[in-house]
Parts: sequence; C-alpha cells; structure tokens
Amino acid sequence: MEVVLATRNVDKINEIKDILKNLRLKILTFKDFPNLPYVKEEGNTLEENALLKARCVSHFTDKVALADDSGLEVEALKGAPGVFSSRFAGPGATYEDNNRKLLSSLRDIPDEKRKALFRCVVALVDPRGKERIVEGVCKGKIISEARGKNGFGYDPLFQPEGSDKTFAEISPKEKNQISHRAKALLKAKMILEEWASSNSTLVVGLTGNIGCGKSTVADMFKEMGAYVIEADRIGHLILKREEVKEKLVNLFGESILDKDKKVSRKN
Ligand code: IMP
Repeated sequence: MEVVLATRNVDKINEIKDILKNLRLKILTFKDFPNLPYVKEEGNTLEENALLKARCVSHFTDKVALADDSGLEVEALKGAPGVFSSRFAGPGATYEDNNRKLLSSLRDIPDEKRKALFRCVVALVDPRGKERIVEGVCKGKIISEARGKNGFGYDPLFQPEGSDKTFAEISPKEKNQISHRAKALLKAKMILEEWASSNSTLVVGLTGNIGCGKSTVADMFKEMGAYVIEADRIGHLILKREEVKEKLVNLFGESILDKDKKVSRKN
C-alpha cells in the first residue's frame, strides 16, 4: 500500500518515516507530487485541520493520505494557544515571539499551576471513503525560563511529566519515545497495518470447462475460510430479472424462451 504524507516539513517527514519504517508501506511525499496543493489550516480544531489536509491530499493523489496537526494547551490559559500554537503571538510569529508571549502570559502563575500538554491529532484518509482520527498527548508543565537548544517551537519551555529536563534538553530520539506526535503516529501505524492487510486480500479466479472440478476446488477454498462468489449462480439470477429478459428477447427473439417463458440456457 502507498501512503502520502500531507506535510512539507522535512523533520516531520523523517520522524514519520522512522516510526512507520517496518510496515509494508511505500511512503510518498510532496517530492513525489510536486504540485501537491498547499492546504491552509483554517479549521477551529486540530481534528478539523488534520482532516482538511488529509482529505485534500488523498483527493489530489487518489491514495491514502496521512496528515497531522499539533498544539500546546496550557491549563492556566484555558487550553490556549491550542490550534493557534504556531501563531500565538500573531500572524507570522517566530518560535521566539510565541515563547516570549507564553512566558509573559504566565508571568504571575505559580509553578504548581503551570500544567500544560502537547496534543497531536493524526488523520488518515483513504480515497475510497475510509477516514480515521487518532491522537496522542504528552503532559507536562511550562517552566519560567527557556532551557535547551534541541527541538523546535515551545520545546525549551516544556518539561514533560516525570523529567527534570525540557524537550529542548533531551535528544530527538528520547523525545520521540514520549512525544504527543510519536504516540499518535503509533496509533496511526496500527490502522495502516490493518488497512494494508485488508488491501492485500488474495483474489483467486477459478475457471475451466464443465465438469473439470471448479466446484470441488471452490468447496476446498470455502473450508479454508475463503469467501466464494459463484459467478454462474449470479448469472442465472440475472437471467430471471424481467428487464434483462426483455432486453434479451428484443435482441434474440422469443425463441430463447422455454415453455414457461423463462430464458432457456439450452436454446
Ligand atoms: P504542527 O501542527 O506540528 O506544525 O504544530 C503547530 C505548532 O505547535 C508549532 O508551530 C509549534 O509551535 C507547536 N508544536 C507542535 N508540536 C511541538 C513540539 O513537539 N514541540 C514544540 N512545539 C510544538
């Protein structure tokens, strides 16, 4: 199965590829689709944005698409910046601008009330109509002074629960074991595994002359748990439909009907 990643962020692409690496998937990116549309994140929630991106890319490429949207939710700020995390300090804000605004918004808030969490929502869309949404959360708190040089965004201000280091003080490998994105992607991986295995269902066609043993082999497949579609039986049922019978008589004449006015398969 092929999956297209609905992001142009190369760091994210590498992280997603790393998490999905042992699946039987071919991962495609904007490099494989140079004209992949740019989708504005205009939704009111992370879910809406992730779905918007995945739907658009799946529609454009006619393949399964994976999109994510993440944000920081601070308890003392009633869940802000949330879906507006990348533009907390206004349109075009840099990571530094956002961090400065976050620190000033929490200036008078004591340590025990600085709880926060990162949330990541991943949307999976199959062009044949299947859609799934999963999320991952990483809880922690906002410290009062930036620490560390790794990562991006709010990493220097976010200290995950159970650690005395910020996201910017731990290695990318360590962050990928506990991050919101890694947790959401692991759930998405399970869904993709399921989709990939249902997409690779073996379809066997049994053909041959009358009396050559098609039904015997079909029965053997049935015993092994296969779902058997008998094309012969479907054909016979179709011949019983009035509108089909009418068209056949128009084409071949009344002589194709038997004494009961049914289509005679012998004639
Ligand atoms: P995105 O949806 O992953 O691009 O995230 C939107 C914004 O949320 C980013 O611009 C960051 O400000 C913030 N953010 C999301 N994930 C992280 C993270 O792992 N560390 C720091 N900031 C993050």
